[in-house]
Amino acid sequence: MLLRLSKIIDVPNAPIPFEETLDLRDMRFGGCCPVQEPVLAKGAVRQNAGVLTLIAELSTTLHALCDRCAASFERAVSYQVEALLVHELADEHCADAWTFLIEDDCVDLDEVLSTAFVLQMDSKLLCTPDCKGLCCTCGKNLNEGDCDCRPEPDPRWAALGQLLKDK
Ligand SMILES: [Zn+2]
Ligand SMILES: [Zn+2]
Repeated sequence: MLLRLSKIIDVPNAPIPFEETLDLRDMRFGGCCPVQEPVLAKGAVRQNAGVLTLIAELSTTLHALCDRCAASFERAVSYQVEALLVHELADEHCADAWTFLIEDDCVDLDEVLSTAFVLQMDSKLLCTPDCKGLCCTCGKNLNEGDCDCRPEPDPRWAALGQLLKDK
């Protein structure tokens, strides 16, 4: 959706609210497409001292496999985003992922909001932030309890044990 900004470009403190639903079902993240439900975006664009900012809240429910324990999970997430809208990309803006271009007095909400969503997503998809993962020896899911594996012996002690045995 294109949001026309002409009416606030010269009028400060008159926010233009918007509410949109994004379809990010095809967005791949790691090995899967975790955004199977619509993303609800609610926010506004406002102008202050000639600077246009877009503020929004993005929310959805992720469906994914945990990167650590491989269990499938669903988790409600919501991200706050704030982006700067500019008429020209000056050099100092190019490096900033949170700056978007206004074209013909319009901003492409889909582009801004989908990019913002991706930028805000955690770099790993975890079933819970403190997922314990799987035991690398027996493969047991350690969220369900400890396994019987002993920790690997320190290789230095193993070498010493070998020395003593050789004598
Ligand atoms: Zn997990
Ligand atoms: Zn184990």
